[in-house]
Amino acid sequence: MAEQLILDRLSENLTRLRLPRIKEVLSELVLAAETNSWSYLTLLDRLMEEEVSRKEQRRIESVLKLSGLPWVKTLDDFDFAFQPGINRRQVVDLFDLSFLERKDNILFLGPPGVGKTHLSVALAVKACQAGCTIHFTTMSELIHKLRKDQESGRIGKNNRPYKGSNLVVVDEVGYTPIDREECNLFYQFVAMRYEKASTIISSNKAFDEWSELFHDPVIVTAILDRLLHHSVVVNIKGNSYRLRNKLPAGVEKALSEEVIAE
Ligand code: ADP
Ligand code: MG
Repeated sequence: MAEQLILDRLSENLTRLRLPRIKEVLSELVLAAETNSWSYLTLLDRLMEEEVSRKEQRRIESVLKLSGLPWVKTLDDFDFAFQPGINRRQVVDLFDLSFLERKDNILFLGPPGVGKTHLSVALAVKACQAGCTIHFTTMSELIHKLRKDQESGRIGKNNRPYKGSNLVVVDEVGYTPIDREECNLFYQFVAMRYEKASTIISSNKAFDEWSELFHDPVIVTAILDRLLHHSVVVNIKGNSYRLRNKLPAGVEKALSEEVIAE
């Protein structure tokens, strides 16, 4: 059969089989195979690898889009030199993702702009690339969703991404106070995930300030007890990256200390 006819039929079949990447690179790789005398197996392997990595890339893109992440950043984008107070070894070690297997939680604590959200996002992206289900939410969004679940009688079910994902990030705990009932909902969320799946929390408030925030010291103790039992706490003390080059160093330092002391 004439070569062009074979190529046309192949191209049609590749469309039917939904193998667009192979279709794209077919001519190029067949030529490379001829030029470099690849075996049939090598050619087949290269073609499959192309398709699989394209599909994996698409899967990651679509999961990231649906995961609620505010943006995508990685550990490589994080400038440790800017934040000398951070325990670099401790942070880098988290990226081996063994905390997910152990169902450990991670708590990032520190004033605004020091990279709590950045590192939480970077861990979620890495977890997604490793095939885990992830969800990112702020505390106020989470409370809103949990309230809705309660109203519709679905509070105890973990079949929602913000409750049942392998990794849930709850950002900005402590930015807005919550009432007693909401505190209870958050306790149920934490208890549901305790020892079953990892949760990353970021907060600008130290733990001893949590009781003021949540009004009920008994529930706060129960929440912290479960959150901290298997956990890594990363304290970030330093200047805001957002304000770098914008304020004289002295003012910036005073600002970040004020927020910690708040
Ligand atoms: P936080 O959540 O602690 O308030 P963010 O993680 O949102 O702070 O950081 C604010 C912005 O500054 C983000 O765009 C983040 O990517 C960036 N950023 C913070 N710290 C660093 C850093 N050390 N290196 C690079 N970018 C940083
Ligand atoms: Mg943040």
